[in-house]
Amino acid sequence: MKVVIIGASHGGLQAALTLKRLDSSTEVLLIEKRTEISFISSGIILKMNDMVDELDQVRYLTLEELEEKGIDVLLNTAVTALDPERKAVIFESQDGQKSELSYDKLILATGSNQFSTNLTLPSEDKVTMYKSYPSSVNALANLEKAQSISIVGGGYIGVELCDALKDQGKEIHLIESADSILFRYLGKEIASIIEKKIIDSGINLHLNESVLGFSDTDKELFVTHTTNKEIRNNYVIVAVNARPDTTLVKEFLDLNTNGTVRVNEQMQTSDPDIYAIGDVTSYPVRNSYRKSFIPLVNNVVRSAIVAAMNVLGQTINYNMTQRTTATKIFGCYIATTGLTADEAIFEGIEAESIFVTLPCQMPYLKVQEEVHVNLVIEKSTHKLIGGQLMSEKDITQSINTLSLAIDKETTLEELVTMDFYFNPAINQPLGFISQAAYEFLIKKYGV
Ligand SMILES: Cc1cc2nc3c(=O)[nH]c(=O)nc-3n(C[C@H](O)[C@H](O)[C@H](O)COP(=O)(O)OP(=O)(O)OC[C@H]3O[C@@H](n4cnc5c(N)ncnc54)[C@H](O)[C@@H]3O)c2cc1C
Repeated sequence: MKVVIIGASHGGLQAALTLKRLDSSTEVLLIEKRTEISFISSGIILKMNDMVDELDQVRYLTLEELEEKGIDVLLNTAVTALDPERKAVIFESQDGQKSELSYDKLILATGSNQFSTNLTLPSEDKVTMYKSYPSSVNALANLEKAQSISIVGGGYIGVELCDALKDQGKEIHLIESADSILFRYLGKEIASIIEKKIIDSGINLHLNESVLGFSDTDKELFVTHTTNKEIRNNYVIVAVNARPDTTLVKEFLDLNTNGTVRVNEQMQTSDPDIYAIGDVTSYPVRNSYRKSFIPLVNNVVRSAIVAAMNVLGQTINYNMTQRTTATKIFGCYIATTGLTADEAIFEGIEAESIFVTLPCQMPYLKVQEEVHVNLVIEKSTHKLIGGQLMSEKDITQSINTLSLAIDKETTLEELVTMDFYFNPAINQPLGFISQAAYEFLIKKYGV
């Protein structure tokens, strides 16, 4: 069996490794248009926070390791066309040489790009996005030089970048068109705590402001125009608008209405010999009526494993996603899963939510920490449909408990009575998840 994988980023690499581990006789060829592999897109943040010495270190796999495993890789090689009738891949190397080869199965792992469709962007030294290693090197150099920086988009990328820049004595603007940051992941309560931390750190937070364009871009200090403001800056990072890269297949594969490649539960496209994984496709979200484009690496690697196993005849289905995320910003761990209360309304679910602040430890201990918990339930069934946590303590693993609870349609009553541990030196008899569910029940039934 010969499997060709287009794109050697997180999805393509995981698919290649899984294929080889399942059956070492499988011929696996990765084709990648870039010159390097396995760079983590948020590498800039790790470098700025001094968690690595060099940006180039933010990788987890080398070309040599792939080759040792018997995986063939063509770098610096762009696939320019596919011929599904002949099961052929047409590609071009850096020197312009065109070649063609055939496949038994093809895995499309071309991922996503960040396009800013409505804006005319000046040169990359003024306004840019970053994701790949070369674009990250460029952005890092410009961020170091610039004294006044605007960041467009208050999602994870934008907020993590603000956090990394906050102590550098620069003028930072965070511009978000919604009325709160991280609005896809957080309810207003936790979002407003982070917003206060952002403002207290000296960052200029502009909510309800959309970027309309740029002027004076020939000058060192140019202008970013937003709905109501003119912001003078010497560098702008655009952290919005990731879009699937379907260039190679959009003429002959079925697409979803959001432009992603349509796949079944085995990640198989409308052509049974072509699978699509990672950011190029959409994922079924639990308690949502539609599949969504969710550019997160945890979806990417799971979809890659599912595709690789099915390519080799082992039927395994992609489960739902809860879009589980976690980060550390402004001294706090934040973790989210499932729907926010606002999203539940959008999905047509009558929901209720509770926001509580709870102690993590027993009151006699020297170390005292708090956790903010937001739980969202379906009103009629009490099924958990969303949860968010925030604390200075690392509570991130607990979000996986909530994700599992949502996946298994766990009710509030079950969360209160579920068997979770207690240790008097570590937590409370009702851990904070059970305690939050308990508070919810008291609020509902207390007279
Ligand atoms: C700044 C930033 C920070 C992020 N941080 C996080 C995070 O903390 N956690 C998280 O879960 N997610 C994060 N993400 C999202 C994450 O990076 C993506 O979900 C992930 O990279 C998608 O992986 P992929 O393999 O599907 O595709 P991509 O990473 O988009 O890679 C696709 C690959 O295909 C190659 N390719 C495309 N077309 C061709 C062609 N015609 N021929 C040959 N090769 C081709 C590309 O060169 C590329 O290497 C972040 C994204 C950004 C931009």
